Amino acid sequence: MENKLKAIVLLSGGLDSSLATKIILEQNIEIMALNFFTPFCRCNRIKGCYSVAKYFSEKVGIPIKRIFLGEEYLKIIENPKYGYGKNLNPCIDCRILMFKKAKEIMEKEGFSFIVTGEVLDQRPKSQTLKALKIIEKETGLEGLIVRPLSANLLPETIPEKKGWIDRSKLLSIKGRRRETQFYLADFYGIKDYPCPAGGCLLTDPSFSKRMRDLIEFGSVDLKNIELIKIGRHFRLTPFTKLIIGRNELENKKILALKEMDDIIIRSENFEVVGILKGCVSENVKYFSIRLVAKYIRDSNDYKKVIIENNKRMELLNVKPIEVSNFLRI
Ligand code: SF4
Repeated sequence: MENKLKAIVLLSGGLDSSLATKIILEQNIEIMALNFFTPFCRCNRIKGCYSVAKYFSEKVGIPIKRIFLGEEYLKIIENPKYGYGKNLNPCIDCRILMFKKAKEIMEKEGFSFIVTGEVLDQRPKSQTLKALKIIEKETGLEGLIVRPLSANLLPETIPEKKGWIDRSKLLSIKGRRRETQFYLADFYGIKDYPCPAGGCLLTDPSFSKRMRDLIEFGSVDLKNIELIKIGRHFRLTPFTKLIIGRNELENKKILALKEMDDIIIRSENFEVVGILKGCVSENVKYFSIRLVAKYIRDSNDYKKVIIENNKRMELLNVKPIEVSNFLRI
């Protein structure tokens, strides 16, 4: 039986990485796909990039592994060596982490090189020639990353030099325009791909504002990141934050994310649920209870509010308070 060369492709589920996979498969290379996800992906197993990547990998007959970047990812986001993009997206450091993981698998499982759908100058932060070189240097993958969509504009890689793949069959796409990719998608019959970078919350200005608050007040952890994806957030003091759900789903999520010392402030029927986190003085607690009361929709001037803390439950009748937006994050 023919002994094929094996490569890893970083398959996001977007069009570019799908095209890169197709182009390399045509060169008789065996491929395994890695699909990375972080706490900041909008997608989940059912919806979004992963389901598209999985569907695509099944269609072209390649295995796919899904890899979660959790705690390690949080370490880079607080102080990324290569800084942030337009919002709080540490794209270069993020790519370095992904490539390091891919390299570990490549070495352990006998793959020869890595393929990506990166396009030169498509993204201002992570896809300039300088950034691509930094990523290769930092990961020790110099010459081992093949970018089929832009390969003819980039230095020759080891797989090309060794004749494992034919450089003349690789492309010279550059920049943000995507006509060539759309043409190729048509040619290869690739449909329903998500938009590029649309899946990363760190590129979203409002989410980045909340994330910045977590970094500033030293509360970056996986549970707090889940919380900043939902609800109304109020920074009450440097040590205290109140989050109030906006609907039943968010209320349930808040209750599920409660930690030992958190205080739950809610309406009797759970229609309004808030969570008070941090070091709480009596004044701040009372202020929060009145703030939660503001969202309880009944005709009474005073609202019944339940406060739960470490198995203790208290019922108060309070007058709702209005707050100006400066507390909102
Ligand atoms: S957009 Fe998000 S997931 Fe993509 S490289 Fe940047 S930080 Fe990483």
